[in-house]
Amino acid sequence: MVIGGGPAGMAAALFALRAGARVTLLERNEKLGKKLYITGKGRCNVTNVAQGDDFLAQVPRNPRFLYASLGHLSSEGLRALLRELGCDTVAERGGRVFPVAQKASDVTRALVRGLQGVDIRLGARAESVRAQPGGSFNVHLHGEEVMQADAVIVATGGLSYPVTGSTGDGYTLARSNGHRVTDTYPALVPLDTADDWARPLQGLALKNVALTANRRGKTLFHEQGELLFTHFGISGPLVLSMSSLLAGLPMQDIACAIDLKPAVPAQELEQRLARLLTEGGRKPVSSLLPQLMPRSLAQAFPAVCPVQLTKACSQVTAAERRQMVDTLKALPVRLTQARPLTEAVVTRGGVDVRDVNPSTMMSRLVPGLFFAGEVLDVDAFTGGYNLQIAFSTGALAGERAVQFIAEEKE
Ligand SMILES: Cc1cc2nc3c(=O)[nH]c(=O)nc-3n(C[C@H](O)[C@H](O)[C@H](O)COP(=O)(O)OP(=O)(O)OC[C@H]3O[C@@H](n4cnc5c(N)ncnc54)[C@H](O)[C@@H]3O)c2cc1C
Repeated sequence: MVIGGGPAGMAAALFALRAGARVTLLERNEKLGKKLYITGKGRCNVTNVAQGDDFLAQVPRNPRFLYASLGHLSSEGLRALLRELGCDTVAERGGRVFPVAQKASDVTRALVRGLQGVDIRLGARAESVRAQPGGSFNVHLHGEEVMQADAVIVATGGLSYPVTGSTGDGYTLARSNGHRVTDTYPALVPLDTADDWARPLQGLALKNVALTANRRGKTLFHEQGELLFTHFGISGPLVLSMSSLLAGLPMQDIACAIDLKPAVPAQELEQRLARLLTEGGRKPVSSLLPQLMPRSLAQAFPAVCPVQLTKACSQVTAAERRQMVDTLKALPVRLTQARPLTEAVVTRGGVDVRDVNPSTMMSRLVPGLFFAGEVLDVDAFTGGYNLQIAFSTGALAGERAVQFIAEEKE
């Protein structure tokens, strides 16, 4: 029995079916893969071409736990499976793989095709899983129904975007079977800031900037890319990645800064600024800013720059010029908190991987109980890695569950 009809659960059911089992798939929603539909903005970044260590480098949380499952179903294996089921895929920038038709629904449709023969129960919410003395399981559904299974795979997802059905049920099921569940936090999530100067910048996207986060003198994040100002703070690809590395840390401890000119070394930028100031003559320094940054940011800049920008260009001292360069190279951002789990792409934390065998996905505490997907304390950056993890852990759990049942019956 598989609990949860997301990518991990569908992969588990499909691989268990192909391994020869009679499979029941429980999904609390009225359809399978509700979250899958909204992935990649509806295009579904289903995996990434990265393999081996390149893939694992994109997994900040418990990467080694994934060696066996990614070996079992690699991104190539997943693409071949989808192709076999009628969904061709294409690799784009950054190795991100999408269905050729650019529609997430194509991925779900392909998987559903592969599930023919599985007893799919929609609107069926599992409320408890209890191991029975003979080795089987009783699965209690919402309502009175109790179902029996020889092995159970929990693939209920995490806590992010709960409207899609992932409300943390798997943690309850795991705990009631003696499993440890690590604290959960939002990851791949926008961040709130305390900077009033940034509020009017809502909607401004900065391309090719660098974002840095330091904590107690240690650099936790430094990357170049795109950042977006929002009504509450900052978002965009750079910020989502950074949020993964800051998940669970007190944001007040983080010194965060934006380098507006990452491609220009400070010395070169100072020379350029000196030239502009000379040319500027009696004009106010603020009049130069639109040559250095987007206009809306130039309007907000006086709030963060320690130099009096109403001053004439010709009056700016060398020390002030350096201060301006320092601000351009490290625009300070005061982080307050991550946005809530309801807005996070993934959940950090979950079923403690120390209690799960990575070669089989089976519980080390309750034989016959398996876990797959985001319910586990594993998560990755954006780029198709999280879905690949769901598919790989699901596929491994499905196959090993059937093997477990066969061995038990011998
Ligand atoms: C907006 C958004 C965009 C994303 N885009 C991408 C992307 O492009 N690429 C990528 O790699 N990752 C992406 N992700 C992350 C990815 O979608 C998840 O990591 C992945 O869906 C996890 O799969 P899962 O099967 O473990 O969990 P889920 O997809 O959450 O599926 C769990 C299923 O279990 C069901 N369920 C829960 N409790 C019960 C219960 N008690 N009984 C029965 N059923 C239950 C739920 O209804 C749900 O259908 C995105 C996430 C979000 C929120």
